[in-house]
This record gives sequence, C-alpha cells and structure tokens, in this order.
Amino acid sequence: MKPKERMAIPRQRPRELSVAERIDNFKEIVFGFDHDTAKLEAERCLQCKKPGCIKGCPLHNDIPSFIRLLREGEIEDAYWTIRKTSSMPAICSRVCPQEFQCEGSCIRAKKGEAVAIGMLERYIVDWMVEQGKDLMEPCALPTGQKVAIVGSGPAGMTVAYNLAHKGIKCTIYDSLPIPGGMLSVGIPPFRLPRDIIKAEFDALKSCGVEIIDGVTIGKDKTLQEVKEEGFDAVFVGVGAHESRKLGIPGEDLEGVLHGVDYLRDVNLGKDVDLGQRVVVVGGGNVAIDVARTALRLGSRDVFILYRRTRKEMPASETEIHHMEEEGVRVEFLAAPIAIHGKGGRLEKIECIRMELGEPDESGRRRPVPIEGSNFFIEADAVVAAISQRVDPTVVNGVEIKRTSWGTFEVNPDTLQTSVPWIFAGGDDVLGPQTVAKAAYHGRIAADSIEKFLNGQL
Ligand SMILES: Cc1cc2nc3c(=O)[nH]c(=O)nc-3n(C[C@H](O)[C@H](O)[C@H](O)COP(=O)(O)OP(=O)(O)OC[C@H]3O[C@@H](n4cnc5c(N)ncnc54)[C@H](O)[C@@H]3O)c2cc1C
Repeated sequence: MKPKERMAIPRQRPRELSVAERIDNFKEIVFGFDHDTAKLEAERCLQCKKPGCIKGCPLHNDIPSFIRLLREGEIEDAYWTIRKTSSMPAICSRVCPQEFQCEGSCIRAKKGEAVAIGMLERYIVDWMVEQGKDLMEPCALPTGQKVAIVGSGPAGMTVAYNLAHKGIKCTIYDSLPIPGGMLSVGIPPFRLPRDIIKAEFDALKSCGVEIIDGVTIGKDKTLQEVKEEGFDAVFVGVGAHESRKLGIPGEDLEGVLHGVDYLRDVNLGKDVDLGQRVVVVGGGNVAIDVARTALRLGSRDVFILYRRTRKEMPASETEIHHMEEEGVRVEFLAAPIAIHGKGGRLEKIECIRMELGEPDESGRRRPVPIEGSNFFIEADAVVAAISQRVDPTVVNGVEIKRTSWGTFEVNPDTLQTSVPWIFAGGDDVLGPQTVAKAAYHGRIAADSIEKFLNGQL
C-alpha cells in the first residue's frame, strides 16, 4: 500500500456498550476489534524509521514490529514480540493512557489521529486467548536462588514474571486477599475485567511463583525476618495506597470518604452505599472511577469538583468522555473549602470558584480562588480523590532512606535502595503513576536483582 493510501484510512473505532447497557453493571464497556478492523487499523501504521511510539511507551515495546507482523497475519509472532518487553499486555492494552504514551508520540497524531496502538495490542492478545494458545514462555530450570517480593501490583508482578523465567524462585507477599494491587482494587472491572487479571496471575503461578496473601510486611513480619527465612534479596513494590487528605474543616464528619479506600472496599465486595448525592473531589483517574462506580451502585446525582478546566484533567479523554456520557456532572474551576454537617454527619460541602493564574511547577496554570464566590452543594457523601502517598509500614524495623515526598530512595539505574539486598520500584518510588511505568520498574529491578544474586552488583 502506498503511504498516501495509508494516510487516507481513518482511525477505526471499537464498538462500545451504550449507556443504557452499562450504567447498572460492571461489564467491560469497550469491545475489541474484529479481525478485519484490526487489519485495516494496522495498515495505518507508517512504519517510521525513527518510531516515536517506542520511546513513548514506558516499556519500550517494539510497536512497529508487532503491527507489521499483525498486518502480515503472523499474529502469534506479533504476540511474542510484545511479550519480550511486556509482562502484562492484556492489561496494558486496556488501561494504559495511550494518548499520553505510545499514541501521543505516534507521527500520525501530529496531523490527525494516532494509530490505535492499544486496540491493536489488545486484538493480538485476545486472539491468543481465543485460539487457546499459551500466554507465557516455558519456565526456566530452578537455579536454587530465592527472592521475596512485597506487593503483587504491576511492579511486583513484573519482577516475579522476569525472575521466574530466569529460574529464580519468587514468593510474593500481599496484605490484601487478592493479587494485582490497584489493578484489582483500584481500576474498576468496566475498564479491566477481572478474568483478564486472573489469567495473568494463573500463568505466573504456573511458572512456580508463590503468592501469599493476607500478610502485611512491617506488621506481621519485618523485611529482616523475611530475609532470615532464606531469601537472597527482597523487592518492595507496595504502591501508594494512603489517601491524601483535603486538609479542610469537616473532613472527619461521617459521610466523608477517600477514593482509593472506597474503590478497595467495593472491589473486595463490601456493601458501601454512598447515598443519592455524591460529590467527588479531584480530576484524575481515581476521581472518575469513583464517580462512575457510585453511579453503577445506585447514586443518582454525582458531581466532580475539579479546580482547573477540562483541558487540564489528568485522566484520559476516553474516560472523561465515558463519564460525561454516563451523566457525571463536573464543576470545573471549583475547590472545596469546608464540609458542614449536623450531629457528626455531613450535610453539604462549601466550595469556591477558581480562575487560572500563572503556570505552576507542573507547567499547568495555577488555580486561584475568586474571593466571595463561595457556593454550597448538598451531599450524602463526599469522596476525596486528590492523590495518594506511600504507607511506610513495610519498612518498619529496617533503615531505608526515603525522599522528602515519602517515596523510597533508589539508585535510578538499578532500583537498589540504601539497604543493598532491598530493591524498590513502581508507585512507591515514583509516586502515583501508571501501570506501564510500574511494570517497567519491575523489569529493571529484576535485572538488577539477578546481577546482585550473581555478585555483579
Ligand atoms: C482508581 C485507580 C485507577 C487507575 N487507573 C489507571 C489507568 O487507567 N491506567 C494506568 O496505567 N494506571 C492507572 N492507575 C495507576 C496504577 O494502577 C498504578 O500506577 C499501579 O498499579 C502501580 O503499581 P505498583 O505495583 O507500584 O503498586 P500497586 O498496584 O499499588 O500494588 C501494591 C501492592 O502492595 C500491597 N502492599 C502494600 N503494603 C504492603 C505491605 N506492607 N505488606 C504486603 N503488601 C503490601 C498492596 O496491597 C498492593 O497489592 C490507577 C490507579 C487507581 C487507584
């Protein structure tokens, strides 16, 4: 096909559940491409000599090669090309914010729409599942070395994936009753179905990885005690699960919750009723996932308070669009200043209008309150979703250096902490980030741990 012909093909769109089909359930909203659509979309790739998409992907997946193989009908080879660098393609293809990563760096995005890289990756993985193919390479023979991993999120899971394929026995400890970290207790099933996560962990277990749940390291046993059980090194991938507070009067009233706590409870099957009117504070993935989860569980009026405008929202365009379709109302340029209640229970939230001033250190224009513009929203629940920090419990009993942000200090090349046998990565080093960035850390840490075990680090 000539470049001009490729350029003429419009970006293909996946089929989606309508609002009526999805609003009272947790079914996956976006369908995968069928074969013809995937092939047509693959034809849009220009196979650039200097592909920006590879650089844009936190895992540096060889995107042009897997798209070329898909085009040639070599789907299994396309899958193994992805697997060289990705520990969880079925998951990344669904939840990566591609517009800020691979697709954001696609040359076609400069003058139109990027190639739908995430959807093509998803097609390839779904095809492998449909064909009943093995999703993992055969495991390596055991070397006798043993590594403990704390946290079964994308970072810990990727360390285990890589080490298990080098014959190193991995045991993962997690405080929660299910594996997956924020994949399982943060991101809702309508964006990431649970059978997809289960398949990745089943494959991991089949490679000899042991997962011990319900154990909080730093509380039930220390990292030092873990080491003394015979592990040669430990990886700490505990994420960032401690909710940041709003820091305004009334935050302790009954009816005020925090986003990741709410999502964790819902995902663990607890019955949490937020009532009819819900105000969610924040503009990122967590805020949007809370709002959309509340709607599915019966809340009728769900508002998001965001202190900047739609353009600055850090969530992906698809999530914002789906949220708007579902009827979440967003008060842009508004921030909470107090929560009022009666008899210890929340009644309403007091807000103030903002305007955008000069750019701050993040490059985004700083929101500035407009004096005297206060207004109130009555609410049955207020959910704060303005970011998370690292819970340091895990390092109780060992002296590990931490940054002023509370994250673990590591050598950026090796992810080794100030204690040589302890490595760390993912959100507990980066702060709340993305699945692919955590998985990339997992890959780097696995390489470093292997070197450490062999006396090369
Ligand atoms: C609601 C929500 C939506 C998101 N949406 C997206 C998205 O669409 N796309 C995207 O790329 N990213 C998204 N993210 C971010 C992404 O999920 C995280 O960046 C990623 O999961 C971080 O991986 P991790 O392995 O570092 O930590 P986590 O996934 O947080 O896993 C850490 C694990 O450590 C365990 N743990 C913690 N302390 C201990 C302890 N002391 N002992 C034992 N175990 C412990 C926890 O139980 C948890 O299982 C979202 C996050 C949230 C909360």
